[in-house]
Amino acid sequence: MKRLFVGIDAGSTAVKVVVIDSEKRVLYTLIEDTKPFIEEQTGSILKAIREKFSGCEFFVTATGYGAQLVKEADKRVTEISCHARGAFFATGKKGTVIDIGGQDSKVIVVGNDGQVLDFVMNDKCAAGTGRFLENIAWRLKLSFKEMEELALSSREEVSISSTCAVFAESEVISMLAKGIELKKIVKGIHRALVKRITAMLYSVSFFPPLILSGGVARNRAVQKMIEEETGEKIIVPENPQITGALGAALSGL
Ligand code: ADP
Repeated sequence: MKRLFVGIDAGSTAVKVVVIDSEKRVLYTLIEDTKPFIEEQTGSILKAIREKFSGCEFFVTATGYGAQLVKEADKRVTEISCHARGAFFATGKKGTVIDIGGQDSKVIVVGNDGQVLDFVMNDKCAAGTGRFLENIAWRLKLSFKEMEELALSSREEVSISSTCAVFAESEVISMLAKGIELKKIVKGIHRALVKRITAMLYSVSFFPPLILSGGVARNRAVQKMIEEETGEKIIVPENPQITGALGAALSGL
């Protein structure tokens, strides 16, 4: 019977799933918003996968904030090792993974064989996470795409002085009231997030390339600014948000 390996990254914001075969070929990927009942959600995702690949045998590895709620998991692995493994597989390179998720961010230094050499994690402050951009987008009634494009289109930017996501929101509102151009504000917001991330990066002994993972890595303005701020080469895997799920699937092999 053919054996398939399922990686489920049950994140705080999105559930990501990757199915691979024993040759490490990716057969299926899925990203969907995290629902309040992760146990039921991941149960029905797995049921659909079993139907889609009927006649196969499955080994399920779970990671992420909701990993304990993936009841059918054969194995659970930490997010740090899954992101390192997934990024190493996607790029074939040692380097430093910067993962920016919905409610946390991480920097992971990955060695020659894909092993974790060092890491730092922020799960205490929203300002260095996707939630920061989401809150402002919601306030400004802008989509991700509009936020990204406004940031990329502006030559100038304002400096956001608040280090707290909640106060930054108030700061943005008062800037708009003063008539400051929207695109300068949006670029400044992206800069504030990126500065948080680079501060984490400089707190470890990192080396290039910088490999971006997580949902926020899909934002081209964030990619460009990390490159500008650090002067280092960056690599963005084709689908950066599934990196952790890919690493989970691989760790089942
Ligand atoms: P988690 O594992 O914490 O659930 P993810 O790595 O799945 O997080 O990333 C979710 C975050 O990515 C959310 O904050 C979401 O707003 C952001 N995100 C998703 N797609 C995009 C996009 N195209 N551009 C910018 N941000 C995005």
